[in-house]
Amino acid sequence: MKIIRSPAAMTAWSEGLRREGVTIGLVPTMGALHEGHRSLIREARLQCDALVVSIFVNPTQFGPREDLTKYPRPLSHDRAICRQEGVDVCFEPTVEAMYPAGFQTTVIVPAVARRWEGEARPHHFAGVATVVTKLFGMVRPHRALFGQKDFQQSVLVQQLVKDLNLGVDIVVRPTVREQDGLAMSSRNIYLSPNERRRAVVLYKGLQTGAKVIRTGETDARIIRSAMTQVIKGEPTLTIDYLAVCDPTTLEPLSTVRPKTLLLGAARIGTVRLIDNLAVSAIQGQRNY
Ligand code: AMP
Repeated sequence: MKIIRSPAAMTAWSEGLRREGVTIGLVPTMGALHEGHRSLIREARLQCDALVVSIFVNPTQFGPREDLTKYPRPLSHDRAICRQEGVDVCFEPTVEAMYPAGFQTTVIVPAVARRWEGEARPHHFAGVATVVTKLFGMVRPHRALFGQKDFQQSVLVQQLVKDLNLGVDIVVRPTVREQDGLAMSSRNIYLSPNERRRAVVLYKGLQTGAKVIRTGETDARIIRSAMTQVIKGEPTLTIDYLAVCDPTTLEPLSTVRPKTLLLGAARIGTVRLIDNLAVSAIQGQRNY
């Protein structure tokens, strides 16, 4: 496996392969790789001839009071996972190479970024949209894989690729969960054993919402209140938002549709959890 740190060397490697007709896959990550990342890497390995995993803790997507400096950076562990999974290039640009002196462009996807995570974390999605655009420019992938875990991010990336004609095929893969259902996240290591046991309640709340929908309930207020009740039953969790929304526009719904997205974020101790469930309200169909 090659480790490439310079953007110019990354582009040169990709351009060489593109000329030979090789399809290039990219899995963008911030490192601290877990089974969720691994599932994206495995799928990319199957779908593409050559595979790049980028590891870059992007400072512009962190707020001033967020965990940028203490974000985990277990680089040798991450490289070992990439090697195990047959990754061709681990792309590890430096902050200085990403944002050299004089850098000034920001990519904004206003409507998708307005609500939920965008409201809770101002500037977060501008940071994400800008770094993803830059990574696509540097790696020139044919295809890039993202996790449903960050549902709003995946909608944002699809919108930006369409709007800016970036010509990258975006694949979104299901959320990988711990045995009890907690969505895997690099930040879960911050949870104390006690918090870890309780953290699953966010997912339980979303599952309750899905169950209520499957009983035939269509009123979003009733569904939200069922989810809220479950999560409030665990007082160590503080709800940031719980939403019943349209999976394409992310706008809140008053009545569920055949495809409805349940979105949630909650805080426990110093950790912010996010999760979602895409639910089919069509009789006989389960979550999609
Ligand atoms: P991150 O390193 O947190 O920026 O995530 C890199 C990619 O992995 C993003 O596309 C995430 O949505 C995806 N990802 C993170 N956690 C999971 C998970 N539990 N299941 C599936 N994909 C995930």
